[in-house]
Amino acid sequence: MASFEEELQNRRTFAIISHPDAGKTTITEQMLLLGGVVREAGTVKGRKGNFAKSDWMEIEQKRGISVTSSVLQFDFQGKRINILDTPGHEDFSEDTYRTLMAVDSVIMVVDSAKGIEPQTKKLFEIVKERHIPIFTFFNKLDRDGRPPLDLVDELESTLGINAYPMNWPIGSGQILSGLFDMYHNRVEVYHPKEGADRFLALNAEGTDLAEPNEIESAFAWNETQEEVEMLKDAGNEFDENQVLKGELTPVLFGSALTNFGVETFLETYMQYAPAPASKKTVDDKEVEPDDDQFTGFVFKIQANMNPNHRDRIAFVRCVSGEFERGMDVTLARTGKKLRLSNVTEFMADSRENVDTAVPGDIIGLYDTGNFQIGDTIYAGKKKVEFEELPTFTPELFMHVRAKNVLKQKSFHKGVTQLVQEGTIQIYTAWDSGDYILGAVGSLQFEVFQFRMENEYNTEVVLEPMGSKTARWISPDQLDPKMASSRNLLVRDRNENPVFLFENQFAERWFADKYPEVELEAKL
Ligand code: GDP
Repeated sequence: MASFEEELQNRRTFAIISHPDAGKTTITEQMLLLGGVVREAGTVKGRKGNFAKSDWMEIEQKRGISVTSSVLQFDFQGKRINILDTPGHEDFSEDTYRTLMAVDSVIMVVDSAKGIEPQTKKLFEIVKERHIPIFTFFNKLDRDGRPPLDLVDELESTLGINAYPMNWPIGSGQILSGLFDMYHNRVEVYHPKEGADRFLALNAEGTDLAEPNEIESAFAWNETQEEVEMLKDAGNEFDENQVLKGELTPVLFGSALTNFGVETFLETYMQYAPAPASKKTVDDKEVEPDDDQFTGFVFKIQANMNPNHRDRIAFVRCVSGEFERGMDVTLARTGKKLRLSNVTEFMADSRENVDTAVPGDIIGLYDTGNFQIGDTIYAGKKKVEFEELPTFTPELFMHVRAKNVLKQKSFHKGVTQLVQEGTIQIYTAWDSGDYILGAVGSLQFEVFQFRMENEYNTEVVLEPMGSKTARWISPDQLDPKMASSRNLLVRDRNENPVFLFENQFAERWFADKYPEVELEAKL
């Protein structure tokens, strides 16, 4: 048995950020195949018309492995890896952002034909704030993509991060021949001849093959050699410290679908990705992972959409100490004591219960309404309370009211609770006091509507206001006359004034008109 300290040093916890269709699912599957799947957590999917479906995923579903779960665990090179899902598409919500608060590093998957796409950029901005390592995989090399130099250039300029290519494609699409692996001084061959090694050594200078051999496309090989020379002369220096601070991203290429370059990528990730980090408390102390006291925080609450099962699941990132089933913990916000044997079950494959967990691991607690997003739990006597999770700037807004005016009381109760839980954000119009909901993904509105009906017995009417840009203004700079139909003035749940701008033009117009006013975006 490995000691607690060894277990802890062995954990790597990450999320994959990408735009839908870039290949997140495919590369996850390849990584699981490279490692041995240990366990996976179930997920409660909330899609229109299918809300009641709460399913603990079985390991064999799609090509042997399902990756639609919230947390997956696998072993690779003697390390234990936790992958946290960051749903895209219609599942995109604040939960996606919050998940990024619970990881120690991030993998960014980019489609080589499309480059940096909007959702990647959004997620990246959140990650960048945390100064954690980011590893980039340019995917789909088996298709004709954009020139690699363009891709790296775009990555640096669009995201404002330095890139360090560790390998470089030799052609793409039809003429993809391999990867020039500067880091290992070798060529990784795309279609190795039967019986031949898939790696070819380079000469000592790292400029050409060590022994005469054939690269499928001589044309691509020449071009790659030139580009690699250029990178060596003019590219960034490698600096591990900058990688750890998220200032320099190692860049690797490959094709997840044909399982090319994924292993090399994962090996590089393992080499530089950090073990679980410490976390700051409200009184500005750092809780170290090897601290004896068990602590963790709730980063996501998933409601079970089945009206027969009102329970919810709170996802807890373990921060310090060892978690043991049946242990007593205190909920820092309320002081309430909870025994985790009754209310806890790991989000494992439904037959499996897990008895211990270490920092970096995620545990799922069955919740009957105790937890809120950002809550700290701790074992023992010494109170620990972690810093609040950030709030995110919503982009979608809807007017909301109860359909039946006689339902005002349950309407208010439902709205208050769901807002506290982090399901959705609430604003009130400055003049009328009308309620306005804000979200980062449209699914949040559907979940809200469904839960209001099922848990609070209140039908709600939602009227879309479209997308807006929310900007906070300091109360002493505010003059309500600044508001107009293009910049609606509202209050957030803490009574702070916020402008909802119709579009960027409206925001710029405002900035020109009131140059002394400082507007602030949240994350
Ligand atoms: P996700 O939305 O990011 O999870 O993307 P998926 O992994 O579901 O991939 C989206 C589509 O791209 C699927 O049809 C995949 O088969 C395809 N795909 C993923 N990786 C590659 C790749 O390396 N090459 C090619 N040609 N297609 C890929």
